[in-house]
Amino acid sequence: MKLRFDREDEIFREEISAFLTETLPADVVRRTRTGMHPPNEEDRRWWNRVLYERGWSAPHWPAEYGGTGWSPIRQHIFEHECRAAGAPELRWQGLRLLGPVIYTFASAEQKARYLPPILKGEEMWAQGFSEPGAGSDLAALRTSAVLDGDHYVVNGQKMWTSEGQYSELGFFLVRTDPTVKIQQGISMLVMDMATPGITVWPTTMIHGDAPVCEVFLDNVRVPRENMIGPPGSGWNQAKFLLANERTSSAEIPKAFADLRRIRAIASREMKGGRPIIEDPRFAFKLAEVELEVEALEWSVLRVLCDAPSRHPVAARASVLKVRGSELQQKLSELAAEALGQRALREYRRDNVFTRLPEDPSWGDHVPGATADLLYLRACTIFGGAKEVQKNIIAKLAFGL
Ligand SMILES: Cc1cc2nc3c(=O)[nH]c(=O)nc-3n(C[C@H](O)[C@H](O)[C@H](O)COP(=O)(O)OP(=O)(O)OC[C@H]3O[C@@H](n4cnc5c(N)ncnc54)[C@H](O)[C@@H]3O)c2cc1C
Repeated sequence: MKLRFDREDEIFREEISAFLTETLPADVVRRTRTGMHPPNEEDRRWWNRVLYERGWSAPHWPAEYGGTGWSPIRQHIFEHECRAAGAPELRWQGLRLLGPVIYTFASAEQKARYLPPILKGEEMWAQGFSEPGAGSDLAALRTSAVLDGDHYVVNGQKMWTSEGQYSELGFFLVRTDPTVKIQQGISMLVMDMATPGITVWPTTMIHGDAPVCEVFLDNVRVPRENMIGPPGSGWNQAKFLLANERTSSAEIPKAFADLRRIRAIASREMKGGRPIIEDPRFAFKLAEVELEVEALEWSVLRVLCDAPSRHPVAARASVLKVRGSELQQKLSELAAEALGQRALREYRRDNVFTRLPEDPSWGDHVPGATADLLYLRACTIFGGAKEVQKNIIAKLAFGL
């Protein structure tokens, strides 16, 4: 294992950076940097297509399925540069979560059907796992799928489905057998979100946007061949998927981009006639969180490189999830602190894009910081609540 950037890695970094400078229009960068949740959907689809044409839309997939064959270090450098340049963040449900499940567990026909449109960004996916009463305790899910001829008939409710209202397809966990041990009765079904019987209700969050929704499933007929793996294998696929989700949810490239943004804010915003960056108390807090981000980056690289460890990968992924989400919250608090009263000004999507040009005192570094702060209250919950991650760490790493 190699945990350092060598000369070739640095040349690779320069190549990526030059490509990004050449390709990303200023208006896309500006929209991306406003920290809105969800980000601009058209920008993301466009960017997915651009990266696909370059062969770079899924660096972490194996090369035989359209990945790049880059080492984990290079994948990390690529993500880092994309964030630093203000590239739109690609939708992760298809590329990060479902794609690896498909090429690991699905049939040859399913791979041929689903993987290419994910790579091209032509079909966007929603993750339908959580339900009222089944979030942390996911195995308690009650949405049922009953076989009727060549179709499963699905009934139930999902909630907190990220970007379900902007998705063509969804991968849903459903209960296909209520008579066996609860984990063994769960299966994963792919559903076209336009199927009759699926109703989507966007949920407005504290920052004023609706990045999530509730999904109601009322006698939805789903072709039998849309099941991934055999009936009852959904729990294994879900565990595999959640471990991937937690490793990437450390969000290191975003953390570095946030640090740069905080520096920019603190250099421009004044306190007592001096830039806030010169306030020793603020500078100390910034240095402290910067060190924590760097330390976490090395832990992420160790997991990505499969470095030897006394602890199982699921426990390590949970550690990254807990620390990564805590740091995201700290960073967003620091950005708001640097903005002071300006953090309280209007920050919603409609205001950011319509009013900003009329207000010259409102620099590009201001909008979005408060939206990010408010939205990120949820990051210690989504992808698996912090308390539950700590239970996993206690059990798997320390045998408690
Ligand atoms: C913004 C956002 C986006 C999301 N996107 C998606 C998505 O796209 N797809 C999807 O399927 N889900 C999604 N989720 C759902 C998310 O995965 C769940 O919210 C999460 O798993 C927690 O479940 P819950 O909300 O049911 O809370 P609960 O499980 O009811 O937990 C409530 C509280 O009790 C604590 N708790 C529960 N059990 C224990 C325990 N055993 N020990 C100690 N404490 C415990 C929790 O930590 C938490 O603080 C999203 C959630 C949010 C907020």
